[in-house]
Amino acid sequence: MSGTSESSAGGITLRDIYLARARIAPWIRRTPLVASASLSAIGPSRISLKLETTQDTGAFKLRGATNFVCASGDAARARGVVTVSTGNHGRAVAHAARRVGARAVICMSELVPRNKREAIEALGAEVRIIGCSQDEAEVEMQRLVDEDDLALVHPFDDPLVIAGQGTIGIELLEDQPEIDTVIVALSGGGLISGIALALKAANPCIRVVGVTMERGAAMYESVRAGRPVEVEEKPSLADSLGGGIGLANRFTFDLTRALVDDYVLVTESEIARAIRHLYWNERVIAEGGGAVSVAAVLAEKVPNLSGNATCIVSGGNIDMAAFTHIVTDDASR
Ligand SMILES: *Cc1c(COP(=O)(O)O)cnc(C)c1O
Repeated sequence: MSGTSESSAGGITLRDIYLARARIAPWIRRTPLVASASLSAIGPSRISLKLETTQDTGAFKLRGATNFVCASGDAARARGVVTVSTGNHGRAVAHAARRVGARAVICMSELVPRNKREAIEALGAEVRIIGCSQDEAEVEMQRLVDEDDLALVHPFDDPLVIAGQGTIGIELLEDQPEIDTVIVALSGGGLISGIALALKAANPCIRVVGVTMERGAAMYESVRAGRPVEVEEKPSLADSLGGGIGLANRFTFDLTRALVDDYVLVTESEIARAIRHLYWNERVIAEGGGAVSVAAVLAEKVPNLSGNATCIVSGGNIDMAAFTHIVTDDASR
């Protein structure tokens, strides 16, 4: 394991993460870290929740998108920005672009829940729905980059985006310097790479655990294969974790391989249970992708959990009809 930020892919360092923090501080919320009595009762570990559900736009993705848009400055403003998104990143890019007065085009697949699409349109961005997979939406995004010269804000595989997500790591170090383990939802790997870079630069012994749904664990399968591979995309409660890592992945595959200590896969029923648990015990509304870290703890799937552990609750943008259905499902409560 490389451990230090200097030796990692992309040359992203702790300094970049501090620069990101200074840049985005006026635009994003510093999110609370709260102790969870209900989760700490499960085992020997004291568990806290980092509530990115309270971030503006309802998910952590605002950090990376804002860092990109602010760092690109006038160039992005003049050309406009484009991205492909399962929802939260698109919403974050729309929000950040509106702040600086830039045009934003968001490409997404038909799998994206309607509430997320509407939230993006409400922010003044153009939405293009293309095909039934993230990959098809990516083709349209690339066309807009090539033909219309829009600047691509990648959802995860970009140093500015990774550094922006890494600001969570800095906040964790400040709020809980004695942190032993962090448990993080893993899809494209921008979130976990940024957090791991920050934490391991401070203390390489801090353990980083990545959690994905069984259905469509692209990064997990890629790490196992030793190269980026494609996996079949299936509908999941954790819709915000959908999509591949890109066969031409530049940064997050190497960073994840170098920095993530353990991987956990969770089932759909474990995700539902975590959404229920967070609501009934913590009064937190989490979306599926935001609840997988807690799902891993509840299912007791995190190996050697002890000391101080933090679950990143990465987002709360769940469709209210789906949410109501899940939390009132008495049979499985
Ligand atoms: C995007 C997203 C993730 C995963 O982030 P990656 O950087 O793609 O690994 C986790 N949770 C939520 C709520 C997200 O929107």
